[in-house]
Amino acid sequence: LCSRRDEVSLAEEASRMYGSPAPTIFSKVIDKSLPADIIYEDEKCLAFRDITPQAPVHFLVIPKVQIPRISAARDGDAELLGHLLLVAKNEAKKEGLSEGYRVVINDGPHGAQSVYHLHIHVLGGRQMTWPPG
Ligand code: 5GP
Repeated sequence: LCSRRDEVSLAEEASRMYGSPAPTIFSKVIDKSLPADIIYEDEKCLAFRDITPQAPVHFLVIPKVQIPRISAARDGDAELLGHLLLVAKNEAKKEGLSEGYRVVINDGPHGAQSVYHLHIHVLGGRQMTWPPG
């Protein structure tokens, strides 16, 4: 669980690094004021099931610090971004996605991003198609 002190330092870090992004619904998932089906948590990130799943398995991996979108990431985020991808593949394996899966990051209006807190979508359990819509 996140202490109040953790929340304040996360907000300060986000403010210092990325301006002052408006908190999103995912801030409430992180501070547990909004229930979510959390499948993994550590000090840097959280993975939880998407509320509107687009595949039999659909979960999101998010950093606890509010990077608003992938295009706002900094060179110094390399380790965190790598960690998010490794959590995504570890959880995909735990979910039994042995036939493969889709990893997606939507950025900005053209990317159809709706929540401005960086998140990695992991979708699986059915055949995906290409190109995406
Ligand atoms: P985006 O369109 O920004 O890439 O994806 C945002 C995702 O967050 C969507 O797939 C949407 O269903 C999911 N989402 C939005 N609000 C909530 C929520 O309150 N709880 C959960 N678990 N997922 C949410």
